[in-house]
Formats: sequence, C-alpha cells, structure tokens
Amino acid sequence: MVVFLMGGLGGQAGEWWNLSPILGCMAPLYWCREELGPDSSKGYGLKVPFSPLSGSRAHSTATVPSKSSGKGKKVTVLYDSSEGGIAEKEETDSKRLKWEPGNWRQQLDNIREMRRKKDAPVDQMGAEKCFDSSAPPEVMRYQVLLSLMLSSQTKDQVTSAAMLRLREHGLTVDNVLQTDDVTLGQLIYPVGFWKNKVKYIKQTTAILKQQYGSDIPSTVRELVNLPGVGPKMAHLVMNIAWNNVTGIGVDTHVHRISNRLKWVKKETKTPEETRVALEDWLPRDLWSEINWLLVGFGQQICLPVNPRCKECLNRHICPAAKRC
Ligand code: SF4
Repeated sequence: MVVFLMGGLGGQAGEWWNLSPILGCMAPLYWCREELGPDSSKGYGLKVPFSPLSGSRAHSTATVPSKSSGKGKKVTVLYDSSEGGIAEKEETDSKRLKWEPGNWRQQLDNIREMRRKKDAPVDQMGAEKCFDSSAPPEVMRYQVLLSLMLSSQTKDQVTSAAMLRLREHGLTVDNVLQTDDVTLGQLIYPVGFWKNKVKYIKQTTAILKQQYGSDIPSTVRELVNLPGVGPKMAHLVMNIAWNNVTGIGVDTHVHRISNRLKWVKKETKTPEETRVALEDWLPRDLWSEINWLLVGFGQQICLPVNPRCKECLNRHICPAAKRC
C-alpha cells in the first residue's frame, strides 16, 4: 500500500490529504508530502494515524520516512484534538526512529544456524571452558580472569593448553604469587606477549591479594584498573565470572564481522569503537550471545583473510560478500 500511495499521489508540501474515501476505508487515513530538506525532491513522509477505532481520542501515528531522510528531520504527528478535529505537532524523527542495520535479524538468524553445531575452537576452549568448575567460587573467578588475560592475541588452543599447565601447577592467588617469573613464563609460553603477561599477572594477582581478599573485583571500573585488563576483557569477566552482562565483549572477530555486515553506522577503527557502536542499537538481551556467536563464526567461516563466503548463509545479504 505504501508503494501505491507514494507513487500515485502528489500534493503540495505540507498539504494533508484524507485518503479514506479513496481507499474506501472507514478509519481516517492521512497523507502529507513534506519537504525533508532544502530540496523537496529529496523525499516525503507518509503518516498513517492508527488505532482510530480504539475509542481513544489521541491517535498514535506511524511514519514511513523516505530513504533519503536523515536524522533530526522534523515530522508532523497527527492527533485528535480534545476539541474535535485534527491537531498537529512537530517532533524530531531522530527521537522516535532509532538506527539499526538493515537485515540484521536475518543475518543473526543465519549465523545462529551456522553456529548450531557449536564446534568452533571457542566452544571447546573459550574462557568459559578453561576454569576448574569444582574450585571455590573466588578461585573460579580468578581463573576466568587469568584465562582472559592469556587469551588476548592468542589462539584458543594455545590459551587452553597454558591454562591446563597452570591448573596442574595450582592456579590460585597464593600459588601464583609464590611462583617465580621464570617458572610462570615457562608455564604460559607460547601465549602472545607472554613476557608482558607474566608481569601483568604478577601485578594483578598481588592487587587481588591486597585489595580484594584474593577475589576479583565485581565492577568494570575496578577491573579495567588492573594491569593488563582492558574494557573487552572486563565485560567478558563480568559476564562469565559474575554472571552480569555489563557490555559487549568485542574482540578482533566481533570487530571485523560487525564492520563487514555493516552492523556499525560508520566504519569503526578499534574494537572499543565497535563495542560502543553495537551497544547503541543491539538489544541488550543479545549482548552476551553476540560475542560467542561471532567469535566462533569468525573462527570457522568469516575468516580474517579469505572468508568462506560461498559457504556462508549470509552471502546474499552481506555487503562484504565475495560474489565470485
Ligand atoms: S558473506 Fe562472507 S564476508 Fe559476509 S558474513 Fe559471510 S563469510 Fe563474512
């Protein structure tokens, strides 16, 4: 119906048309051409007051912005005035229309389908799998933090093997503090930047002992103050160790795929920028799932180099798909 109306009606800018007689419907239906910028050819809006049969005096309105409409444009909203008749009110459409990427729900469903078998490295060896689930809660939380500290710039297989060696050695705050740096280095080698990580693990563990009773902090603000802990890690720790979703954990996979699928309004340069951009529109109840989904998807199909677009269910709706 929208296509018919937009293609078949004209009118001056700002002039309201009652479409009810034309369409033969009982309910009032109004259409107005609006200038959306200095050049009126840029587009126009369609306003369809609905719920006229609800008995309510005030009508809600739906707005169909033209493709070219940008944020901050004024739109006119129709109401039944208390005196009878139609009243108009201008609102800024950006207050009512929130940006979200096209097709994202279909793309997400496709990724869920491609991840159905849960057979990516992250499923077997991610941070959720690396801690000793029979240990006391504070020790489990410490192990989650350590596995995430080890995991940056490191493949899951390498992190998992290092965690196994650490756990055999005894992965508690006290044990790590009693372990000399050379031995700790041998235990975690060859994780990425292992020398720096030895230093950060020792410093962080000492802080946990002194300030947190050998437990880990329970806020993002405190976590990011620990040496070697950044925002991505902090949000993942909050989710896994404290079961509290405070933000999206954006690693290199989530960052890359979000840009390929155009899940960010403008291209982002860093994972932290991507996190902020995703959190702006992605429903909060998906924040926890999205890291797990995209990390595994990035490990198996949407690879950093030579993504397997031919096998990807999103190949027809992905802006970055290789068509040949
Ligand atoms: S079509 Fe290719 S680039 Fe797009 S999501 Fe799938 S694998 Fe990644």
